[in-house]
Amino acid sequence: MEKKEIILAGKIAQDVKEWIRPQIKKGVPLLEIAEKIEKKIIELKGKPAFPTNLSINEIAAHYTPFHNDETLASGLLKVDLGVHVNGFVSDTSFSLDLENSEENKKLIEASEKALENAKKTIEKGIQINKIGKVIQNTIESYGFSPIINLSGHQIEQYNLHAGLTIPNIDDKRTTEITAGLYAIEPFATNGYGKIKDGKPSGIYSLINHKNIRNNDARKILEYIIEEYNQLPFCSRWIVNVFGTRALISLSQLEQNGNLHQYAQLVEVGKGIVSQAEDTILIEENGNKIITTSKD
Ligand code: MN
Ligand code: MN
Repeated sequence: MEKKEIILAGKIAQDVKEWIRPQIKKGVPLLEIAEKIEKKIIELKGKPAFPTNLSINEIAAHYTPFHNDETLASGLLKVDLGVHVNGFVSDTSFSLDLENSEENKKLIEASEKALENAKKTIEKGIQINKIGKVIQNTIESYGFSPIINLSGHQIEQYNLHAGLTIPNIDDKRTTEITAGLYAIEPFATNGYGKIKDGKPSGIYSLINHKNIRNNDARKILEYIIEEYNQLPFCSRWIVNVFGTRALISLSQLEQNGNLHQYAQLVEVGKGIVSQAEDTILIEENGNKIITTSKD
């Protein structure tokens, strides 16, 4: 683990979060928000670790604007962004209520408080179900449900979801936290407490380098390997470089087994979902550094 790069990625993510937050208002196009965030990350000498997720209401995660997206910000909006420096990632998110709704505000407070309590709880040697239990208890104390099939995760270089997962409930797994980099991400909902796959998201990751006969598709595959390695990317990014013709190549690469396309994740009971997330570095000596926030 390259501490310097992890800390730098976290600092950039923090700065972008603070910079974008006041600019997000009801009615602003999601496409504009995503592109501003990703441009700012590059300006600050990082790279987006994955496409900015801008998920509204019952969509819990994995909504990134398409290249021609006309969706406007509204409802309870979750902004989930990632920065990497040389493959070392910081992953962070916050939620905004764009409706002046008491229920939305309470949902946001529940996931933020759960994250705050989880950050106090995580330490070297602690069992992961104890972190899940703190998250679950906090969210339930607001009268809401944690989303049981979404979780935090360990992060390794160029690998956003590596090794351990950090549950949002007490799942009885007693595996202990060792030194490493972890994202904690509580989701709170007034729905059922579970997500299912929705529509295709246009977010992909590389799963196999195997050859593809089509020339255009092969060129795009080479670009993906070079530019993103194992980190997620989206059709919007590819269209920005290769034009809309690349959409055909992306579906060929998916069919050929080179790419996996993620689905949008939708709350089963159509409940509204809030999310809060920070990335935490646990060092060998037990030292704990929250990379994406100042507390
Ligand atoms: Mn995230
Ligand atoms: Mn994450």
